Parts: sequence; C-alpha cells; structure tokens
Amino acid sequence: CGIVGYIGHRDAFPIIIKGLQRLEYRGYDSAGIALFDGSQINLVKTKGKVEDLKQKANSISQEGSIGIGHTRWATHGVPNDVNSHPHYSNSGDLVIIHNGIIENYESIKKELTKRGYTFASDTDTEVLVNLIEEVKKTEDVKLGQAVQIALNQVVGAYAIAVFDRRKPDEIVVAKLGSPLAIGIGENEFFIASDASPFIEFTNNAVYLEDEEMAIVRLGKEIKLRKIKNDAVA
Ligand code: GLU
Repeated sequence: CGIVGYIGHRDAFPIIIKGLQRLEYRGYDSAGIALFDGSQINLVKTKGKVEDLKQKANSISQEGSIGIGHTRWATHGVPNDVNSHPHYSNSGDLVIIHNGIIENYESIKKELTKRGYTFASDTDTEVLVNLIEEVKKTEDVKLGQAVQIALNQVVGAYAIAVFDRRKPDEIVVAKLGSPLAIGIGENEFFIASDASPFIEFTNNAVYLEDEEMAIVRLGKEIKLRKIKNDAVA
C-alpha cells in the first residue's frame, strides 16, 4: 500500500501516477487519485493496478496542481471500486487517503450515524474523514486542528493525507505506524510513503515520526507537530 501527494505548480497527475507505480513493490489491490482543478475535485479509483487507474483516469479531467493518490491493501471492506481510496466526507469538501487501520471505527461510525452521517463504503477510512468533518464543523476549527482532535479519538495505525476543496493551498498529513515522507522543493511539496516518488525533484526530505503531523501549505515552512499535545495553528 502507498500514499503520494503533491501541491505546487506542476501538473499533479503524472507525478502521482508515477509515484504510485514506484510504490507498487509495497503491495496493493486497488488504486485511486483525487485532483483539485481550481474549482472542483476530480476523483477516480478502481480495483486493480495503477495501470488500470491510468486508463480509467481518461474519463476525468487530469488538471490540477494539488492532488493525492493511493494504493490500497484492503483491511476493512473487500477490494472493490467503492472501497478504494480516496474517500470523500459527506459534504464532499474533504478528501482523504489512508494506509493503516482505525481499530475503533465501529463505535465512531455508530456515533456519526446517529448524527446523520451516511457511508458509501465499508472502510474504516471513510469513518475517519467524516469524524474530521464533524470535528471541524462542531468545534469550528481549521483543518489541521480538526485532524489533530480527530486523531486523538482514534485507536489504530495510519499514514493519512487530507485536503479541503474550500482551502486548496494545503494538505494535512499525519503518521502513526505507516511511513510518511515530505519532499520539500521550491514552492512545492511532495508527500509519499518513501522518497522514491520525488527523488528527481528534490533531495530535501523530512520523515514524520510516529504520532507526528504536519500542515503542508504553500508558502509555509514544514513544522512537525506532536498529534498528542502540540498546538496546531
Ligand atoms: N484500512 C484501510 C482500508 O481498508 C486502508 C488500507 C491500506 O492500508 O491500504 O481501506
């Protein structure tokens, strides 16, 4: 399984597809990608290979300089198109990719269902993105803070990348268990499970430690923060 993300000035699509192919060695059953084209998110995902995703992506706009891509190794929900990542939140504003397992997703799902949330997939991941949405709404906080608060309610393992179509200048990432690296370029950032997706662009990389998160925002320095107790602005 693997994660790739890009935010900057280049076309995100080829970087993400190539990056996912370089992470194929990690094993996977499905792949998907979400791109923000300046006005909306275009998302495509499929059971099968990254090559299948590439074919299927001919049906969407491949425009955009911010995007996230994923290869899935199913843990919750069979490998199929719907369970593949990325996953939207109910509002369609947030989109997430996740490697790992949210162990207490059932109790969170029950709580969110009571509050009116519905779920298209059987994944633990779709529960997490809706928990982030609910926290963001009820606590009226920024995405980074919402991710932090949500992750403090989560038991499990994860590398995640999430962004909000209403604020498409940042991707929030967090890690516990699964690997996550950020490549730092000139006015651009790369996110990936290891450095192989971005080696030709930059050799400046930071690796998140367990229980760390970062807000990857254009024009801002990368600051790693502890999910448990650092203030997240
Ligand atoms: N638990 C998530 C799922 O089954 C992520 C699996 C993965 O690591 O790719 O969808």
